[in-house]
Amino acid sequence: MSDTVEREAMEYDVVIVGAGPSGLAAAIRLKQLSPDLTVAVLEKGSEVGAHILSGAVIDPKGMNELFPDWKELGAPLETAVTRDKFVMLGPQGSLDISFLPFPKWMLNHGNYIASLGNVCRWMAQQAEGLGVEIYPGMAASEVVYNEDGSVKGVVAGVFGIDKDGNPGPDYQPGIELHAKYTFIGEGVRGSLAKQLQAKFGLTEGKDAQKFGIGIKELWQVPDENFEAGLTQHTFGWPLDNATGGGSFMYHFGDNYVAIGFVIHLNYKNPWISPFDEFQRFKTHPDIRGYLEGGKRISYGARAITEGGLQSLPQLYFPGGVLLGCSAGMVNVPRIKGSHNAIKSGMLAAEAAFAAISEGRSGDELKSYEEGFNKSWVHKELKAVRNFKPLWSRYGTIPGLVLGGMDAMIGNLLNGWSPFGTLKHGKSDAESTGLAKDYKPIVYPKPDGELSFDKLSSVFLSSTNHDENQPAHLKLKDPSIPISVNLPRYGEPARLFCPAGVYEVLYDEAGNNPKFQINFQNCVHCKTCDIKDPSQNINWTTPQGGDGPNYPNM
Ligand SMILES: Cc1cc2nc3c(=O)[nH]c(=O)nc-3n(C[C@H](O)[C@H](O)[C@H](O)COP(=O)(O)OP(=O)(O)OC[C@H]3O[C@@H](n4cnc5c(N)ncnc54)[C@H](O)[C@@H]3O)c2cc1C
Ligand code: SF4
Repeated sequence: MSDTVEREAMEYDVVIVGAGPSGLAAAIRLKQLSPDLTVAVLEKGSEVGAHILSGAVIDPKGMNELFPDWKELGAPLETAVTRDKFVMLGPQGSLDISFLPFPKWMLNHGNYIASLGNVCRWMAQQAEGLGVEIYPGMAASEVVYNEDGSVKGVVAGVFGIDKDGNPGPDYQPGIELHAKYTFIGEGVRGSLAKQLQAKFGLTEGKDAQKFGIGIKELWQVPDENFEAGLTQHTFGWPLDNATGGGSFMYHFGDNYVAIGFVIHLNYKNPWISPFDEFQRFKTHPDIRGYLEGGKRISYGARAITEGGLQSLPQLYFPGGVLLGCSAGMVNVPRIKGSHNAIKSGMLAAEAAFAAISEGRSGDELKSYEEGFNKSWVHKELKAVRNFKPLWSRYGTIPGLVLGGMDAMIGNLLNGWSPFGTLKHGKSDAESTGLAKDYKPIVYPKPDGELSFDKLSSVFLSSTNHDENQPAHLKLKDPSIPISVNLPRYGEPARLFCPAGVYEVLYDEAGNNPKFQINFQNCVHCKTCDIKDPSQNINWTTPQGGDGPNYPNM
């Protein structure tokens, strides 16, 4: 449709897709460097922060560089971390392993617990104060190219296409935003980033990107359960040794407990339901005491990048760059990526400012990647690059011990490792095993107090999609879910989707399976795009303003 559509165009120096920490830091840095630059930020959420879901314990390193006076300016890095707790869980018992000599970089002294969504809301205010134009509710749905093949900008703000893909009564064709440089800060598994990586071969010679799914709830708990500044991480139960992942729990603000579970998406057993593992985890005798008597106030999910240094794509392409988790900059053993995202945005801004000052546009910002390679982000990711491959190869306990020791050596010896650089091997989709080789898992029924079902959970995410639009979850071949995925893998989309979007329905006699997509429930976590074993699901962006409305995740 887009080839024939006439659209207005707006011209900027830099257009940024995504108002996450990376995109906002880039916008702010550009304006700090030159108030005359014109900068626009597009955000698909109904407001900045509506689609942000993180832990979050924030290393203020990035913020310190962006705003050395962030405390005076009132940045909502709410609660200083007071205590780190690490626990190995078994089915009934637990072992507190906080006494082990964890290296300083794994501990959170000096870090802050916050809602990353609220941090982004605050960053957006600062950016607007500097003259950045921010457009929430505007999804960037297409890349626009110059005749020489370089990126010219994006299309955003297409609304009102009906279910059949035709212009409906409220149709708006959207606008083209053209820029000297286009920054892609869409976060994990960005829909435009995916296209750009393929078109420009940005991942050639790199390892497959790896991911986890993070499911999170926000609780408000009674005083007696609350310890301001406590961070706790657990390993082990309910996951078996072959399945990577663990939980996080952070106490902050007004008796808030952010509690969540990450499962590495290279899990083999297709009967695993990450959502139900998380619900089960909360009922452990060591965990339930923190939540009992409290109220669950929000729910959501988001994938997290885990590939690290060896999976980073080339960061630049003609006319633009990839920022933060659109490239994959999470430090896995620290479960932190927001400080790296901020720094990457700053580095890209500095490279674009220098290029624009020389009268350049639409070319490759190689200096961004050069700056990145010399930065502390690179140093940090290099030191921990073998953590995830060792965990995947040797399982949780030996993998964590080996990976932890290797990262410790790496941090001491400037990234040197006795293993060199280990490869990740298969993609997460390819890692999925056959249903016949595993026993279906029977999960306990939710009790409605500590554990819940998917639909009541999605309700708490305030997710909404206009029903009269084409499903944004596109199947390359609509027959595959029933003809291939169901017999081979038990159609795992039913289980890995944390929002109940995918269902296999049968007739009354239990025959004639039919695949149903309830796209209205989608919380934009991107897991289906990553984990579908047939790589048949393509997540595209729905119209702007749709999706979850996270208050303070
Ligand atoms: C469960 C979980 C726990 C985590 N815990 C921590 C932690 O404790 N500490 C920490 O530092 N990091 C943590 N992280 C990682 C951290 O959240 C990310 O590294 C960070 O958010 C990446 O920032 P970003 O700007 O690259 O992307 P994001 O924060 O994902 O922001 C991307 C933005 O772009 C928007 N967008 C995407 N596509 C489009 C489009 N086409 N058009 C318009 N807008 C678009 C999205 O709606 C979103 O607002 C965690 C992540 C998860 C999932
Ligand atoms: S449909 Fe896909 S992106 Fe949406 S919530 Fe489910 S797994 Fe996540």
